Amino acid sequence: MRSLVGSLLLFTSLAGAATGAEVDWTAIGAEATEMLRDYVRVDTSNPPGNEIAAAKFLAERFAKEGIESRVFESEPGRASILARLPGKGGGKPIVLLNHLDTVGADPSPWSHPPFEGVIDDGFLYGRGSVDCKGLAVVEAMAMFAIARSGERLQRDVIFLGTADEETGGKLGAGWFVQNHLDLLDGAEWVLNEGGHGRRLEDGKLVYEVGVVEKTPLWLKLTASGPAGHGSTPRGTSAVERLVRALERVRTRPRDVRVVPQVADYYRALAPLRDEPLRNRYADLATALQDQAFREEFLARPEDAALVQSTISITVLNGSEKTNVVPPQASADLDCRLLPDETPEQFLAELRSTIADDEIEIERLVELPPSASTTDTALYRAIEQVAREDGAAVVPNVLRGFTDSHYFRSQGMVVYGFVPVVLTDEETRRLHGVDERVPVAELGAGTQRLVRILRALD
Ligand SMILES: [Zn+2]
Repeated sequence: MRSLVGSLLLFTSLAGAATGAEVDWTAIGAEATEMLRDYVRVDTSNPPGNEIAAAKFLAERFAKEGIESRVFESEPGRASILARLPGKGGGKPIVLLNHLDTVGADPSPWSHPPFEGVIDDGFLYGRGSVDCKGLAVVEAMAMFAIARSGERLQRDVIFLGTADEETGGKLGAGWFVQNHLDLLDGAEWVLNEGGHGRRLEDGKLVYEVGVVEKTPLWLKLTASGPAGHGSTPRGTSAVERLVRALERVRTRPRDVRVVPQVADYYRALAPLRDEPLRNRYADLATALQDQAFREEFLARPEDAALVQSTISITVLNGSEKTNVVPPQASADLDCRLLPDETPEQFLAELRSTIADDEIEIERLVELPPSASTTDTALYRAIEQVAREDGAAVVPNVLRGFTDSHYFRSQGMVVYGFVPVVLTDEETRRLHGVDERVPVAELGAGTQRLVRILRALD
């Protein structure tokens, strides 16, 4: 009896798969919403992370679907999870990447508690509801939907949820790539955060796909000088030396240039804009030669950061006492390099700007350049789905960085694409107060991802 029911079910689901009508997307949406609500309740604020709780939560869900998973701990409590949905063996696996940790949340300014997953007016509120628990749920549900349909894709689909992304990923993606890269079985493509469907204010739909990230280079400048009493300034103290250097950094002439990926980004945006922006975005380098437009463009920090390597002066350290002249003073610089510039070139220029050989420059964080070509079947699959949805695909350049560089350094193509559609209002809340995801997008996003995976087949 049992086997008969089993084979009948198998038969109907296979027949369904052939027609492509096998999945009840409304039910999937409801289930995704419930899963995200429960997942948001697993607090993985980093620090401390405690991603093991998230890994166990997900492992249980995968087990229920009959999908094998494995949990890894890089340090006690700092866990990552890998689950694999086997394909027919045609083509290398595709990795659906997400991270298990979130940034913290002080509940007081939130309209709903950040770790309860409250649903209000069509939105699910909670820390991680988009970044990155929302993405994880959509990726997992896409695998569940395919598994349940009985359909087998050509390639394996690998779900990889990692620890520690919010503080740099060393105990998560970094650790995984170093120790278990072989488990990805030669995967050539990775989908990660770093781009998403975007509903513009005029209603137009854009699928932003992250293909390049600016290269972070974090530096510490340290100046030294005679220590002494604050009552007797000598004009040669470490603090004064540092302040002079920082002023030269702050007022340095800017090297504004349009690298090819940034030109592509604005060119893709051009048709979505009205004149005169349409014309200017179509050829940004030429447009920037016009002084009035250049000033207007550079006055917007988001745009300005895409046409120059930037420096933010962030941490400052001097004396701990008002009346003590310290022997040392230091400042941290958060530098983000355009993809055509090496750290060595950047540092040489910085040294000449500072023009003080006695100021030491230490590299705190240095990551490799992080870029992927758009000339792949995966990119074309996203384009195909976008066309069906009436959306334009825009190859995005990220000012910030994600875990993508760990995989790009291994030769994999990584795209930042969270397949849910957000307005800029939602995007502004990431890492901030009242992070939320439109509930309808959980089912829609799952379906979009399944369509991308099928388009690859
Ligand atoms: Zn994230």
